[in-house]
Amino acid sequence: MPPSDTPENTTTPGVEGDADGPLIVFDQVVKRFGDLTVLDHLDFSVAPGERVTLIGPSGSGKTTILRLLMTLEKVTEGHIWIQGEPFSHMRRGSALVPANEGHLRRRRKRIGMVFQQFNLFPNMTVRKNIMEAPVHVLGVGKDEAAQRAEELLELVGLGDKIDAHPTQLSGGQQQRVAIARALAMRPEILLLDEVTSALDPELVAGVLDVLREVAETTDITMLCVTHEMGFARDVSHRVLMFDQGRIAEEGPPEQIFGDPREERTKSFLKSVL
Ligand code: ADP
Repeated sequence: MPPSDTPENTTTPGVEGDADGPLIVFDQVVKRFGDLTVLDHLDFSVAPGERVTLIGPSGSGKTTILRLLMTLEKVTEGHIWIQGEPFSHMRRGSALVPANEGHLRRRRKRIGMVFQQFNLFPNMTVRKNIMEAPVHVLGVGKDEAAQRAEELLELVGLGDKIDAHPTQLSGGQQQRVAIARALAMRPEILLLDEVTSALDPELVAGVLDVLREVAETTDITMLCVTHEMGFARDVSHRVLMFDQGRIAEEGPPEQIFGDPREERTKSFLKSVL
């Protein structure tokens, strides 16, 4: 029987119950799809307020990490902890068992994600798109949610588009609405998955400027998968270079981009820069 189906008497020293410790901990996380091992006993942690960029070749497991945090996938082995509390698992007595849907639903409220595809509701105005989840998932009052939608649209530079429908906006504007929509849930963690790769080149800078602004004006923890190395260099505190489901190298952006030590990092950077 795979370990994740078995109740375990697992504690992670320095993690369990430690609200002042790291915000996110991946503890020996394995993810397999059939015979394919996508994440291979992965260990890493992210501090509160830290901005971490994940880079590496296509297929190295970066998006899978974000999908595990969005609870769109489940770990095969290992554990994910958030603020010292089990995330991929839940407590049953002194044991940890794989999380059920209710546990996952409660835990994922703390996490916002922006995808490559914006996935706005086409039949709703921009204002309604942003208000929808706070009102229906968090139970925020309509007036408060509308006020927050206005503030967030100002932040992403689209205050004048509040009554527009998504089809009336450019791709870059739609993506800025998607960022506002994610922030409307007041997430502690913002996951960004290749948010500019579906955009026409001239629209990329506007979206990255908004994210720079979010990074500078909030203390939100960010995990970002991107091929925009300039952006990664500007906003991240730390860069993790992935290869075949493992971290090949990690360090501050100045070191990873300016003085990479691993051959795999050097050849990856040569291919994208
Ligand atoms: P990256 O983001 O680094 O490009 P991904 O995390 O998207 O990598 O994918 C890692 C590997 O997992 C790829 O080989 C991909 O084909 C595979 N994969 C991802 N999702 C699934 C799935 N639902 N079923 C089967 N294989 C998958």
